[in-house]
Amino acid sequence: MNRRELIDRLKHNPGEIWDMIVIGGGATGMGTALDAASRGYKTLLLEQSDFSKGTSSRSTKLVHGGVRYMAQGDLLLVMEALHERGLMLKNAPHLTFNQEFVIPIYTIWDAILYTVGLTFYDLLAGRLSMGRSRFINKQKTRTRLPLLNAKGLIGGVVYHDGQFDDSRMTVALAQSAAERGAVVLNYFRVSALLKDDRGKIAGVKTIDEVSGDEFNLMAKAVINATGVFADDIARMDVPGSRPTIKPSQGVHIVLDKSFLQSDSAIMIPKTSDGRVLFAIPWYDAVVIGTTDTPVNDVSLEPVALEEEIRFILQTAGLYMVKRPEREDIHCIFAGLRPLAANPENPSSTKEVSRRHKITLSRSGLISVIGGKWTTYRCMAEETVGKAIKAGFLEKKECITANLNLTNTKDVDLSDRLHIYGAGSTEIRKLISENPSLGKQLDPRLPYTIAEILWICKNEMPVNVEDILARRTRALLLNARVSLEIAPAVSALMAQELGHDEIWQTMQVESYTKLVKNYI
Ligand SMILES: Cc1cc2nc3c(=O)[nH]c(=O)nc-3n(C[C@H](O)[C@H](O)[C@H](O)COP(=O)(O)OP(=O)(O)OC[C@H]3O[C@@H](n4cnc5c(N)ncnc54)[C@H](O)[C@@H]3O)c2cc1C
Repeated sequence: MNRRELIDRLKHNPGEIWDMIVIGGGATGMGTALDAASRGYKTLLLEQSDFSKGTSSRSTKLVHGGVRYMAQGDLLLVMEALHERGLMLKNAPHLTFNQEFVIPIYTIWDAILYTVGLTFYDLLAGRLSMGRSRFINKQKTRTRLPLLNAKGLIGGVVYHDGQFDDSRMTVALAQSAAERGAVVLNYFRVSALLKDDRGKIAGVKTIDEVSGDEFNLMAKAVINATGVFADDIARMDVPGSRPTIKPSQGVHIVLDKSFLQSDSAIMIPKTSDGRVLFAIPWYDAVVIGTTDTPVNDVSLEPVALEEEIRFILQTAGLYMVKRPEREDIHCIFAGLRPLAANPENPSSTKEVSRRHKITLSRSGLISVIGGKWTTYRCMAEETVGKAIKAGFLEKKECITANLNLTNTKDVDLSDRLHIYGAGSTEIRKLISENPSLGKQLDPRLPYTIAEILWICKNEMPVNVEDILARRTRALLLNARVSLEIAPAVSALMAQELGHDEIWQTMQVESYTKLVKNYI
């Protein structure tokens, strides 16, 4: 994943015809690139910003079947997601793990409803079940969640789902795709679709947002995996085409782990306005969310509304002994769900199915929209399958169901550096050769100098934000502290990637502006 070398490859092979060009470097696009590359297709992925800059770094971090979708009766979606949950935990053991959830119970009726419902959830998972759901009494609930407000509590229902680091997962997918010959490039925006004499899609026009260089790149299949931006690409194909996406904003807040003091997560199945709310231990913090607010405008930097923040604080305060206040928040982050619009009720997001949709336009553009992080792999498999069915590619079998990401089999999960997969050994080596590189950038965050240097060499960061927001999760874990370490990170990046002092100053300035939306 050396950006300069990969760009040189584009420059030196101007007439090269790719089997597949994927537009969009989130979960869906990166999954598709890995699927295509691992089947042996010549694959190129272009991301306009950084990998997972869009929705894919802003999720609730759950690898789940979706208890809520089961309540809505969408059993097919739940079964598909539970199957994929099992595969994701098997294939990326360094980034996913089994998380215990407790639903606080206040009435006998709820005890029966959730115990039966979640037992059914386990049954749907079959042999990929992650642990038996069961009712536990009040005392056991309080032992698991010592800071849960116990007023009126009669017990809890325990169940298991998966949890993960979303943006590190995207990088792992990128590395795995690159290891199988794919070219994955960040900061490459697709500005137009190229068509042949018959009006069929033949490639894309793209601009390197760092250098300003433009490229016309040809491909047998072009995939639109741009999440909430999918309609923009569709309009490059058919100007004025109808919207297919109904974006919905979801906000999370991040607090210190002292607010939960537990390894178990809390799941509130029905808040005052009928939503689901999670409080989940994540690294050394607690992530609480989310909201579901229909929005009209899409942006790479959606901003949380004050009422969304207030709603999360108030609802969390009902269940936590230590009530969180605005000043306790370490980070606020918002993401946009790329829900496939319901043509019969275009304004609603709650009833819109979370299932994905794959379409083929008359000119041959394949668009993949909606879905969930958890189902990225089967979405990718179907998308590549669609390109084969359309006659763009010769048939080759999908192998991702059993594809271990970035050789993670030998990774030591007790080592904090396991999140870098096979890279953890190299980072440890850097530290053993020069112990000063093992120093943390700040005692309030775990990240060391060695990690930043290794990331610069191996994970294609272009801006300081890429390291602080997505290669590490410093921004999400503590936005203010991440701002304090930004100058040190920009100096390390400048040293590794050959930038001057002006670049460093500009980077810190733009990161400072960005962080304002997260605090
Ligand atoms: C608040 C919230 C919580 C969620 N929680 C969960 C969860 O816990 N578990 C779960 O399974 N799912 C969850 N989801 C759903 C999941 O996050 C999304 O389904 C998934 O991330 C969508 O990925 P994507 O690749 O389709 O979109 P994105 O991640 O948005 O990627 C699209 C990419 O396309 C790029 N792009 C756009 N236009 C261009 C262009 N012209 N040229 C090049 N690139 C372009 C964008 O920059 C962007 O990076 C959640 C979603 C939200 C909003």
